[in-house]
Amino acid sequence: MKIETQCLHEGYTPKNGEPRVMPIVQSTTYVYESTDEVAAVFDDPTKSLIYSRFENPTTDCVEKKIAALEGGVAAMCTSSGQAASLISILNICEAGDSFIASASIYGGTINLFGTTLKKMGIECIFVDHDATEEQLSAAFKENTKAVFGETLANPALTVLDIEMWAKVAHAHGVPLIIDNTFATPILCRPFEWGADIVIHSTSKYMDGHAIQVGGVIVDSGKFDWTSGKFPCMTEPDESYHGIVYTEKYAFAPYIVKARMQLMRDFGCYPAANSSFLLNLGLETLAVRMKQYCENALTVAEYIKSTGKVEFVTYPALEESKGHELAKKYLPNGTSGVISFSIKGGRNAAVKFMDSLKLASNEVHVADIRTCVLHPASATHRQLTDEQLVAAGIDGGLIRLSVGLENVDDIIADLEQGFSAI
Ligand SMILES: *Cc1c(COP(=O)(O)O)cnc(C)c1O
Repeated sequence: MKIETQCLHEGYTPKNGEPRVMPIVQSTTYVYESTDEVAAVFDDPTKSLIYSRFENPTTDCVEKKIAALEGGVAAMCTSSGQAASLISILNICEAGDSFIASASIYGGTINLFGTTLKKMGIECIFVDHDATEEQLSAAFKENTKAVFGETLANPALTVLDIEMWAKVAHAHGVPLIIDNTFATPILCRPFEWGADIVIHSTSKYMDGHAIQVGGVIVDSGKFDWTSGKFPCMTEPDESYHGIVYTEKYAFAPYIVKARMQLMRDFGCYPAANSSFLLNLGLETLAVRMKQYCENALTVAEYIKSTGKVEFVTYPALEESKGHELAKKYLPNGTSGVISFSIKGGRNAAVKFMDSLKLASNEVHVADIRTCVLHPASATHRQLTDEQLVAAGIDGGLIRLSVGLENVDDIIADLEQGFSAI
């Protein structure tokens, strides 16, 4: 199936007389006829359902759909994108370990990696997103267990050289984890470029309608965990009656471990109702992404033509930074998100934003409706000036998330915003 078809048909195929649409299975638990059967479920939890803190039939369909869209072997949904980022690292790093992350990633992820994980004894080594192969390689330490980056960073819109980052990670025997939130598998499939694990905040384009927060982790099933660097995968898990993940679940040890160990313990699993809504978003993901890209390119060209901005970043735009990498990794467009820096800095940016009528001022992105955000006063407020610069953010920077309204209406709104400054 082509990806547009997968969006509609993967994950759930009703049998004779069953509902056309996967129902919301609103149940915390599942019934078995005997104690022996329950015991068997615990012996191999991948075969049947135990408890909705870590598995649920409605969510299971969505997991299968997203795994198929990314070209992976298994996926696990989480209650937020933050939970997906957290688990993606904790699944392989423990106190005393380090991992590398691109410095130009989502502000929330920078806080999680740089502050909270640090308190847990895990060090995040931040590296410039456009580091050379040698610079990236030089950042590794003996205890480095993973590398993390974003396909198309929020909000800096830098494009990561996934193939090169994967090559360096693999040369050091560790997996590359990619946050593919902005690109979605419609615009880029990181596994095809060597990434091993993909995560998403499904709250963005996948949901698309600004109705529920969620996340997902997808396993390519390709990384070899048996080098000796990952005893958590290759040695018995005493908290799970001695299971060795790479032996018993060789098809997707990373996801099975994430579910049976970390989701069991943390319980950040989405509600069935949220997964049902996420599936509705996924069904139209392919058509929506095409239209976001078309609208955003038109809007980016318009913004550039006004002469009122220092720069416009929209990697699909020829003169934009990141254009060369976008041609390789995102040939069909670079999502609906544009960032630009208004001449006049912070004050002009605030004035412009407060003048908009159609575009709403909200802490969100990738909504079906056009919205704007001032990163320096909102999502990236907790960052130091130094971290802001590293994340590619200045006071005049505006993140514009172009929606699916008629593009003439979006431009008319921006026009009156520009005339107000
Ligand atoms: C929003 C976002 C997150 C965090 O996701 P939540 O669903 O808000 O927890 C992580 N990564 C990226 C790229 C994001 O845009």
